[in-house]
Amino acid sequence: MADPLPTFRYHPDPLASGSVIPSDAACACCEEARGYLYAGPVYAEEELASQLCPWCLADGAAAEAYDATFVDSEALDDTVPEDVVDEIVERTPGYHAWQGERWPSCCNDATAFLGAFGITELRAYDRSLEGAVMSYIVHDCGVSGGAALRLLESFTREEHGPTLYLFRCLHCEMPRFHHDRT
Ligand SMILES: [Zn+2]
Ligand SMILES: [Zn+2]
Repeated sequence: MADPLPTFRYHPDPLASGSVIPSDAACACCEEARGYLYAGPVYAEEELASQLCPWCLADGAAAEAYDATFVDSEALDDTVPEDVVDEIVERTPGYHAWQGERWPSCCNDATAFLGAFGITELRAYDRSLEGAVMSYIVHDCGVSGGAALRLLESFTREEHGPTLYLFRCLHCEMPRFHHDRT
């Protein structure tokens, strides 16, 4: 049996989101095969896609060894405290977005990433989120009427997108969203 995964405050279930995958391969950093590898984006000089274990992400070893980051610091708001930015950029699994990633904030903190969704998957996951997505489309994206409905229905996990990315505030528990803009 594989060891339990390390805890990531800002990405609580990277196995569910697909950023961590089961693998028998050894980690390029610690050279141990612990049952899982990180499959999200790696920003580093070396090609390290799906070669690092989640433990080397969590304790900062991978960031240090390869001068690597896993989330684009530009994805975070200016209001996020610097230690939180460091934790997310250097020690948190990132996620693949078709276009530039964003990592929303709420209550003076970064939010936790829950996963990538199409509208079908979102309804299956939690139907009550649909209203919050609509409010995001109308108020945050400035899209209204028929165009808002069309955008809502167009969310897909397929490669062409647009995909909806779900986050939740660690304090007020409000859902937050980001989506690929075409
Ligand atoms: Zn490792
Ligand atoms: Zn909040």
